[in-house]
Amino acid sequence: MKKALKNKLKTLEYSSLSPSGWLKNQLELQNDGITRTLDEYWGSVGIYSDWIGGTDNSWERPPYWLDGLVPLSYLLKDNKGIKKAEKWIEWSLKSQRPNGDFGPTYRTSEFDEPLFWPKFVMLKVFISFYEATKDSRVIPFMTRYFRFCLAQLDKFKMSSWAEARGGDLSYAILWLYDINNDSFLLQLLNKVNGQTLHWTDMFEEFPFTRPTNYYYKWDSIMANTTRTSLYNIMQYHYTHIVNVAMGVKQPLMNYRATGDKKYLDAVYKGLDDLYKYHGQVAGVFAGDEHLSGVNPTQGTELCSVVEYMFSLQLLLEATGDPMFGDLIERVTYNALPATISEDFKAHQYDQQANQVLVSNAKRNWYNNEDDSNLFGFEPNFGCCLANMHQGWPKFTKNAFMLGEEEIFATVYMPIEADIEIASKKIRIVSKTEYPFKGDVSFLFYMEENQSFKFNLRIPEWCSKCKLLINGKVVEHGVNGNWAVINRVFSNNDRVEISFEMSVIVKHGWYNNSVSVERGPLVFGLNIKESWHELERGINQYKYYEVYPESPWNYALNIDKEMVVEEFGVSTKQAFSHGHAPVRIRAKAFRVHNWEIENNSAGELPVSPIVGDTEEEDIELIPYGCAKLRVSLFPWKSGNGKK
Ligand SMILES: [Zn+2]
Repeated sequence: MKKALKNKLKTLEYSSLSPSGWLKNQLELQNDGITRTLDEYWGSVGIYSDWIGGTDNSWERPPYWLDGLVPLSYLLKDNKGIKKAEKWIEWSLKSQRPNGDFGPTYRTSEFDEPLFWPKFVMLKVFISFYEATKDSRVIPFMTRYFRFCLAQLDKFKMSSWAEARGGDLSYAILWLYDINNDSFLLQLLNKVNGQTLHWTDMFEEFPFTRPTNYYYKWDSIMANTTRTSLYNIMQYHYTHIVNVAMGVKQPLMNYRATGDKKYLDAVYKGLDDLYKYHGQVAGVFAGDEHLSGVNPTQGTELCSVVEYMFSLQLLLEATGDPMFGDLIERVTYNALPATISEDFKAHQYDQQANQVLVSNAKRNWYNNEDDSNLFGFEPNFGCCLANMHQGWPKFTKNAFMLGEEEIFATVYMPIEADIEIASKKIRIVSKTEYPFKGDVSFLFYMEENQSFKFNLRIPEWCSKCKLLINGKVVEHGVNGNWAVINRVFSNNDRVEISFEMSVIVKHGWYNNSVSVERGPLVFGLNIKESWHELERGINQYKYYEVYPESPWNYALNIDKEMVVEEFGVSTKQAFSHGHAPVRIRAKAFRVHNWEIENNSAGELPVSPIVGDTEEEDIELIPYGCAKLRVSLFPWKSGNGKK
């Protein structure tokens, strides 16, 4: 059998990574705020879960939680979290039956279809666990399970969530194949790819060029059908935002299995169309909870944010295309912090790019509930509470990737990494306040001199950068979007790169609106926020509405200079509303007939607009710092009032 294509780049394992600076603080806030304590407050991952032998059918939720808890605990070397994770891992390892299946056992059928999909997530947990510990049981365990799958998938066909999300099973199969090159895994890979929803066709054709509501009216479907037949009446799984975010990795699995470039082309085409028809300024797509267009008041589900981040990581590994590094930064540095409270004790189900009111009220969602944009413990549905944990910990794997005797600085963040090149050890320390500032320094530690290429990603937004080696400016070779340093490195060498971060006013959004961007950060209007605690929630996990206490209906004068002020990170939570590390001052004017409609900002006025009010100074802060914000602005140009 033909071999599977190799990834262009290889990620580092968790045992080699130590986050530092603001990123370490972010992980600690997450760990203390929600991840390490979730099992003490939430029954879905509690002591009665069937994933540790109980009778509570907790489905995908414990695997989702562990998919974040495991990498997070090992990255932070947090023994309490590690002990908690081990309890679940040990139970799962010991649950493996003679036929190779594992997991909850209360069902009696040979092939437990409803629990098939959650096992894809549990396999990802085992991958992280192995990368952190090298536990020798993991590889044989996964091998036995995949042999079980190979036998079963002749008799049973994947359906429902497993069929929609088969790309995640293929990912786990290829992860093992990359380690042992066992050819039965390719047989299984082809079978799984063949039984997964046809994401390649979906992206090649892209039939959903309008919000899902245009094709399927949810209320009338629900009035006339049962939940079960719903899946036949509408293209439920192809339009489901989390499936789409996971699904963008699926054609990649076909590409690696066959080497046929048409699969890779389908991903690029699919992403272009997703952005064109459903793209949002924070780098994600609208889906509340089905694809819902480009209007900035539509929602984006938190699960889709973290799943898309993971899919993008796999795309970056497979292709080495720096464009995916740009996208990872855009999503992670904007959409992710925006939708989680600064102390990580509350999150939203749906975020809006223009989010001027957070309240328990009806909005133009496709089928989400009224509480979907509340900050709370479990707004709308518990999937995001279970799944949000993987975002920041897995993000660390994007920092450095390896080629053949090459190191790639793929996504910029403060972190330390232990790398091996030609069996020699190198420690790289990346110091930076990126994305708030444009300077990143890399310190190299090694016992003996080594020759290798060090490639630094030049982001697409950057038109000018300066590179220094040991304090001296150097001309660097540029290969596509990489700055390439090819030299003999010595202990204590220092490489510094300084990206000029200009303010960019980007045109072409909904109703011809503009976004204001600097580096990978999108900026939003700094609105005074008033947080109201609701009588809902448990212990420290409360629900909040957030009301605007300053005007939000501004249009920008894009001809006036925008002034950047860098304050630096001064709080443990870098994405702080009160202490935003970077701010932009701009000129704007009120648009009085732009008001709240249906509990969101009303229809965005079509630009350019005529201004008849006095210009004012406004302050913009990073999208991720602003829980209320306008991030797509109407605008005018020119000096006059009109
Ligand atoms: Zn969710």
